[in-house]
Amino acid sequence: MSIEATLLERCESKCELCSSTSSLAPLAIAPQTQITVDYAAMLCDTCRAQIESPEDMDVNHWRCLNDSMWSQVPQVQVLAWRQLTHLSRKGETWANELLDMMYLEDETKKWAETGMDEDEDKPRDVNGVELKKGDDVTIIKDLPIKGSSQVIKQGTVVRGISLSDDPKLVSGKANGQSMYIIAEYCRKK
Ligand SMILES: [Zn+2]
Repeated sequence: MSIEATLLERCESKCELCSSTSSLAPLAIAPQTQITVDYAAMLCDTCRAQIESPEDMDVNHWRCLNDSMWSQVPQVQVLAWRQLTHLSRKGETWANELLDMMYLEDETKKWAETGMDEDEDKPRDVNGVELKKGDDVTIIKDLPIKGSSQVIKQGTVVRGISLSDDPKLVSGKANGQSMYIIAEYCRKK
């Protein structure tokens, strides 16, 4: 039997993540590049497109992970784990809750982590430039300060930022106050 036929049999001709039957094709799970029965998952066109360009993620589509995260197929678990991690970084708490429930064998977990873009753990400014502790940044738009009526004006310079546990936030002093600032509203000087 060909690889594709074996995969189609495994998935019962349904997308292994969302059960759609539309334009199924195998996707090799990074960092693997070969389509083999053990390294590929059979996915619909929507899932493939979203995995390839995570920035256009349709959050609602990924509710399907609720079911597919329990798949016995390691590469489907890897994909589910990565998508849930992306979603939880976007602030989707339901994804975070599913991640907490998910169980991966050590080897599978390692695979899932290796294929993730490590750079996502680093804060990036509006241009995608990595921000580091001690950097000076310019604020690119007026930002309201949480819990007050003040704003940090566009163009304000924040010197010597610090990083936080959340890669989307950096901390620094503006208008004499310490605060967290969304990294993508900064431009590195
Ligand atoms: Zn799908």
